[in-house]
Amino acid sequence: MSKSSAIFLAKSTVKAPDKEHRRKINFNIGKYNATVPQGKAQFVDMMQVRQQAKNIKWDAIEHLDKHLESFEKQITERGAKVLWAADAEEALKYIGKICKEKNCKSVVKSKSMVTEEIHLNHYLKEHGIDSVETDLGEYIQQLDGEPPYHIVTPAMHKNKEDVAKLFADKLGTPHDLTPKELTLVAREKLREKYIQAEVGVTGANFIVADIGGVAITENEGNARLSCAFPKTHIVIVGIEKVVPSMNDLALFWPLLSTYGTGQKVTVYNSIVTGPRQSNETDGPEEMYVILLDNGRTNLLKNPKTREALYCIRCGACLNACPIYKNIGGHSYDTTYSGPIGSVITPHLSGMKEYKHLSNASSLCGNCTEVCPVRINLHELLLENRHEAVESGAGSISEMLAWRLWRVASLNRFIMNAGNGSLKNWVINRTFKAWTKHRSDLDFSQKTFNELWKEKMDKKN
Ligand code: SF4
Repeated sequence: MSKSSAIFLAKSTVKAPDKEHRRKINFNIGKYNATVPQGKAQFVDMMQVRQQAKNIKWDAIEHLDKHLESFEKQITERGAKVLWAADAEEALKYIGKICKEKNCKSVVKSKSMVTEEIHLNHYLKEHGIDSVETDLGEYIQQLDGEPPYHIVTPAMHKNKEDVAKLFADKLGTPHDLTPKELTLVAREKLREKYIQAEVGVTGANFIVADIGGVAITENEGNARLSCAFPKTHIVIVGIEKVVPSMNDLALFWPLLSTYGTGQKVTVYNSIVTGPRQSNETDGPEEMYVILLDNGRTNLLKNPKTREALYCIRCGACLNACPIYKNIGGHSYDTTYSGPIGSVITPHLSGMKEYKHLSNASSLCGNCTEVCPVRINLHELLLENRHEAVESGAGSISEMLAWRLWRVASLNRFIMNAGNGSLKNWVINRTFKAWTKHRSDLDFSQKTFNELWKEKMDKKN
């Protein structure tokens, strides 16, 4: 068993029976479920919209090289610098170098899963740079020393009392602050940080190939401030986030907000096309865009798994997943959790270490059902299982068990040997790993041949 698999089992074993955890998650997902139909109401034909989004992402990913080069050309012409990072280490090196050149002591950051993926905060801390999360949910998580729980709602597992207690412990505020008061405390703390920071780091929801734009969508305005206040703006983004044209945002922005939070459109939608131009009065003096691979081309090279790159990180598949709702986001111990995390993580971080995630699924297909870009998530989970076996990442005991099962189930003599009680006894003791967390298998007392014969006798 891999280390990650052991962590996953240990954490999920604790979380699954935790009723208080489940209550909070069900409450928050319940609110999400109640709002999403309002967002959907703005579309006449939801299925047609989802298919159109899938087709656009198909084009984006099939012609990824062309679109990324177009993005680079356009944004470079307006003074931004584009840096290509093969992995997390290279991306961090770029950021470290830029921060060193700017004599940077503090960074303001807006919400970005890619920065979680490369462990940017940890890196900056090691280099003596203060990095502050400016999205409220991320700020709460940073105060608590926890990674995000969910790709859209980082503090989904906390209720307002948890947050009030956290602020009281860490910031010395009264224990009984309301959500509005808590938000004002965070705002006051963060405003100072924008003014002090030499560098602002953001992610990107989309990168727009034809205009060379970075599209950022958010509800709090903190990403705008992170771009605009500091003299240097660094964008770090996965290469799959490209859309071919600015016109595509007319579809993707409302689609993402609908499936992400149930809003018709998110509050602040910005397109950044470079640093401050000579005829402009605000914005950063310098802008860098780091295009990150970090395993994405592993997904790209396999025509079957490629469609996982269509993901727009709306989080809908997490909210719909019965496994996620039971074990929670932190049990996965990965940057990307839930169904999409289980699909991409083995390709981003290693099949041998993370193949267990593909088994953390009931294969109910609810994730596929809700995905706005119609990614066949549950089939991709099966594809991962297949790849794990083909690549030899499966365990020997599992391989032997399936071989035995195959031999026995293809042999009529073995299948007919013994009655149901004997089979139950043998199988439930042999496959202990199966029965540890499931009820025992229960074979029919009669064999198939006996049942068939009885049926035929009755007919005649
Ligand atoms: S896989 Fe689909 S549902 Fe899941 S986060 Fe990505 S876009 Fe949303």
